[in-house]
Amino acid sequence: MEKLLHFIDGQFVESADGRTFDNVNPATGEVISLVAEGGRQDIDKAVAAAKRAFTAWGKTTPAERAKVLNRIADLIEQRQEELAILETLDTGKPLSLSKSLDIPRAAYNFRFFADFVKGLGTECFEMEGVALNYALRRPVGVAGLISPWNLPLLLLTWKVAPCLAAGDTCVIKPAELTPTTATKLAEICKEAGLPDGVLNVVHGFGPDAAGSFLTEHPDVQLISLTGETTTGKAVMKAASATLKRLSFELGGKNPNIVFADADLNDAIETTIRSSFSNQGEVCLCGSRVYVERPLYETFVNRLVDRASQLVVGDPMDAGTNVGSLISEEHLLRVEGFIERAVQQGGRVLCGGKRPSHVACGSYLEPTIIVDVNESCEIVQQEVFGPVITIQPFDSEEEVISAANDTRYGLSASIWTSNLKRAHRVAGELEAGIIWINSWFLRDLRTPFGGMKESGMGREGGMHSFEFFSELKNVCVKF
Ligand code: NAD
Repeated sequence: MEKLLHFIDGQFVESADGRTFDNVNPATGEVISLVAEGGRQDIDKAVAAAKRAFTAWGKTTPAERAKVLNRIADLIEQRQEELAILETLDTGKPLSLSKSLDIPRAAYNFRFFADFVKGLGTECFEMEGVALNYALRRPVGVAGLISPWNLPLLLLTWKVAPCLAAGDTCVIKPAELTPTTATKLAEICKEAGLPDGVLNVVHGFGPDAAGSFLTEHPDVQLISLTGETTTGKAVMKAASATLKRLSFELGGKNPNIVFADADLNDAIETTIRSSFSNQGEVCLCGSRVYVERPLYETFVNRLVDRASQLVVGDPMDAGTNVGSLISEEHLLRVEGFIERAVQQGGRVLCGGKRPSHVACGSYLEPTIIVDVNESCEIVQQEVFGPVITIQPFDSEEEVISAANDTRYGLSASIWTSNLKRAHRVAGELEAGIIWINSWFLRDLRTPFGGMKESGMGREGGMHSFEFFSELKNVCVKF
């Protein structure tokens, strides 16, 4: 069986204490590889390597770094088929999705930041007749990059690419449930000529393990985390002793607001995607659907009809729409949410159970729940599965208030053909990313991130470089 090792200072190595853990394919329940389980010594070694490598990498020019980033993108594209299969084996997501979204976007993340860094400028202010101020942009040092399991390579490269482009070095702690493509990325970086120590990967768990050892490490200046809100809180606490710079992309409970004048076909098709793609395991999923009352019944009937047609099953099958959830443990958690929603008066219109035609794996039918209100747990908590609620509303004020009535503030969708209203509602919603008549339409130059407990800081374009670089002002007296 394949063993996934740490990648430290350009070498694939075992854990210092030799420990390993199993990597399971959630679609079959089979152990597919053994993974080195990192501890404090491994993190210490990786951080030391990243610190040493920073001396030279931090002095390279943006053009030199862009060249390496583009080579990494080329190699990801060359290995696209293999990487897509590995991503699906680790996550249970449909192979069609790994092929069309996860892996191409991983390559594009490198190309995008390679281009962006070459055009980066800084500020200059003249104090007329007195002095000239100009800012120099410099890399910061060693970054700890901690990633989740839902879009493993896509979200990891969304951090790695700007980190390397900015001239920082890194230690990656991939999600323990999806360690494979991070290991392959290390292989690719080596082949692309990235100097030893610039990128390191230490596998393992979060609390009291590799994750927290990384966040506590005094030689790590930056932590970029994508994960649960509770993890963000733990990381913030651990990082406070050494005052690290933090960037958090955390949980979401996103409203999908459909006004009666919306283009119904478009709203239905996109809601199917925003509810159930990647098994609903996307932080941006619109899991709270609000429909204006005149359209409510029609919308609910059509959505239930469409959701019932989705094919749940083997992620390797080209016809599959919804694959396996990430683990049996996570499926049980999602089922718990459904059970409690029913206890609180919710009515399951479709799904809510494991499909009878699959014998093993962690599958759940796309689930639509109605007759719930804002105080129900299912409306307040992030489920992170193929489960949505639909509620009717009567006025713009009412839906804005309901949409904002959550501790999260990641994204929102608004469906209407009234442009004035679209702008007005977008202005009132407490969310970092708002889509009008769309979902998941991404321009990588735009700010990406959450308000409230959905995150801290923004990623994307210039915003990523604000996190991964330092500005220092030079004031020259005339
Ligand atoms: P998670 O928080 O359990 O784990 C994320 C990463 O953090 C993993 O690598 C884990 O090992 C590590 N970790 C956990 N505890 C830690 C600790 N105390 N110290 C250091 N590291 C620690 O999240 P997950 O279950 O992998 O991913 C799902 C969550 O991620 C959902 O809440 C989802 O909304 C969120 N997410 C957010 C975005 C976004 O862009 N806002 C994108 C994807 C996922």
